[in-house]
Amino acid sequence: MNIIFRSWLYSFLYAVGDQLIKRHNPCQIQKDAAGVVRCLDKEKDSSLCCTSCNFLGPDGCTTECLSCKLHLCYMTEKADPKVPVLLYDILYEMRTIAWKYDLAGIRMSKKMIFDLLRPKMRFRKAMAKTKKGLEEVLENAMVRNRGMS
Ligand code: SF4
Ligand code: SF4
Repeated sequence: MNIIFRSWLYSFLYAVGDQLIKRHNPCQIQKDAAGVVRCLDKEKDSSLCCTSCNFLGPDGCTTECLSCKLHLCYMTEKADPKVPVLLYDILYEMRTIAWKYDLAGIRMSKKMIFDLLRPKMRFRKAMAKTKKGLEEVLENAMVRNRGMS
């Protein structure tokens, strides 16, 4: 799968995850009586589970981080019976796709993921060529060897 399609896939999975999380709100994010943003984990302050992340801005996340979008902490698992179990299954499946195509990275922006991915893909391509080249050399050597015997 080439880089353009991976880029599309990344944003597609992110958009689907974003819609699902917004619709079902499994973290139950809301403001408390004092106006502090809280989630299911009552110990956490307004920064929720994003504490100390470089991408955390005054109004929440400032980047398109696919892994964060698709991960929920243990507290959310079936915490609210109104949240369909299917949501967790879908998020799990989307995480599996993200891992399969090297699109995953907690607290990483899309740019960071693709900056790592491009050289990785070039390396894999070069290795595939080298492997093919070696196989051809071996094949030719075997043909020559058969011709001599
Ligand atoms: S994943 Fe857990 S800690 Fe993070 S916002 Fe949701 S409930 Fe809170
Ligand atoms: S990258 Fe992840 S941890 Fe960081 S602010 Fe965004 S959602 Fe939170």
